[in-house]
Amino acid sequence: MKTDELREKYLSFYETKGHARRASDVLVPTWDPSVLFTPAGMNQFKDHFLGRVKLDFTRATTCQKCLRTGDIDNVGRTAYHHTFFEMLGNFSFGDYFKPDAISWAWEFLTDKKWLGLPADQLTVTVYKDDNEAADYWHEKIGLPTSRIDRLEEDENFWPASAPSQGPDGVCGPCSEIYYHPKGSKPVEIWNLVFTQFNRVGDPPNNLESLPSKNIDTGMGLERTAATLQGVTTNYHIDILRPIVEAAAEICGVKYVPEEDNGRRLRRITDHIRACTFAIHENVYPGAQKEKYVIRRLLRRAVLDGHQMGLRKPFAYQLVDKIAEMMKTPYPELQETTQRVANVIKTEEENFLDRLDEGLARTEKVFATMRKDNLTVVSGGEAAELYQTYGFPPELFEQVAAEKGLTFDWPGYKEEMEKFGELTGTGTMKLFETGPIESLKNTLRQTDFVGYDQSDADVTIKGI
Ligand code: ATP
Ligand code: MG
Ligand code: MG
Ligand code: MG
Repeated sequence: MKTDELREKYLSFYETKGHARRASDVLVPTWDPSVLFTPAGMNQFKDHFLGRVKLDFTRATTCQKCLRTGDIDNVGRTAYHHTFFEMLGNFSFGDYFKPDAISWAWEFLTDKKWLGLPADQLTVTVYKDDNEAADYWHEKIGLPTSRIDRLEEDENFWPASAPSQGPDGVCGPCSEIYYHPKGSKPVEIWNLVFTQFNRVGDPPNNLESLPSKNIDTGMGLERTAATLQGVTTNYHIDILRPIVEAAAEICGVKYVPEEDNGRRLRRITDHIRACTFAIHENVYPGAQKEKYVIRRLLRRAVLDGHQMGLRKPFAYQLVDKIAEMMKTPYPELQETTQRVANVIKTEEENFLDRLDEGLARTEKVFATMRKDNLTVVSGGEAAELYQTYGFPPELFEQVAAEKGLTFDWPGYKEEMEKFGELTGTGTMKLFETGPIESLKNTLRQTDFVGYDQSDADVTIKGI
């Protein structure tokens, strides 16, 4: 089944269940100061969930453009993460609750009229105390208890409150559906969130029951398409593989999935698709917040191209292909390809101008460190590299990680504060995690195959 067909099937299935089909919200919701990018389908309905707006409908279904900065480092390493992706969703505002949400999800996935996935290749998880959901899956849907996993709050409460206490706002237990491809690891395809609380302040007693109970679900479009198309990574589905191939052609290399270049081409595909959508919405690469995220994605793609031997702007040439592959749901992209490509090209030129010097400088830093037996790149060097060569610290960290070196984020932060200049929240987020976490992240990056130890993240062998 083609991805365009899957998107349409989902929306029309939920229309048959009385849902109003609503358009995707923008990718960069300036109306919502709590996020830089839309992270999930429910974002546009926050006020609906809180009972703050008059409801014209109590059931809605959408296909939402999403961007998750938290997944930047996963791209290229796992088979199923993008920064930009589409999330299919169905929502109930004080209307139906767990039984309908569960039975409709099951019907859509397994009924031959819809997706017709084999039921014996699906398992679910529930929040450990959510007997209601567990019983429904077992008694009404008929799943054996061995295929219903009860998980902790960090996995099955959305958004999790532990360990960081989580953000204030609507939340609740959830139930996730996994597909088990033959011969490889399970993939999480759908999350059903039973939104019944509003979290305000710190525990205990910070979960207020909402005036009415809600449903918020999110199904990954690309992951489900990959499942239906029997391909081993999202990047090989019908709307993405041609972009990967186009990237290979532009870069003058052959796409070999399991090679370094394969990873680079997938990363370029993801990052330029994300940038195309953001720039289309007039979010240009820059030094702060969402603009910084776009700069970082673009420069990462340029570095990937550079590592494949390119010395001239190339990524901008992908915009046409991206607009073509996404034209069914987002025909408007085709109207701005010229502008978007120009913005990308200018940013590529700016970065490339200084990239060789910047990389030479990193080599010098690494050589001095080797001589002095140091393993942590100093924050001062990173600040200098960013200011003089426009080399984002996250890229420096990545290049350092390839040499087995780690990165001093607190030192970087201190240096940048001296200059009164900090980059975007991507960086801020890393600061919050502290040096130990940062160190762990860095170590993880050096060994991406080790990453497939994690249950949630699926890495196909060699990719
Ligand atoms: P994962 O554990 O794989 O990172 P998640 O639990 O963070 O996924 P949810 O927040 O539950 O994801 O989002 C709902 C659905 O959106 C997921 O079940 C998945 O199908 C899809 N999804 C989430 N993040 C991504 C991503 N970065 N790229 C592609 N699809 C994604
Ligand atoms: Mg995730
Ligand atoms: Mg999930
Ligand atoms: Mg998950």
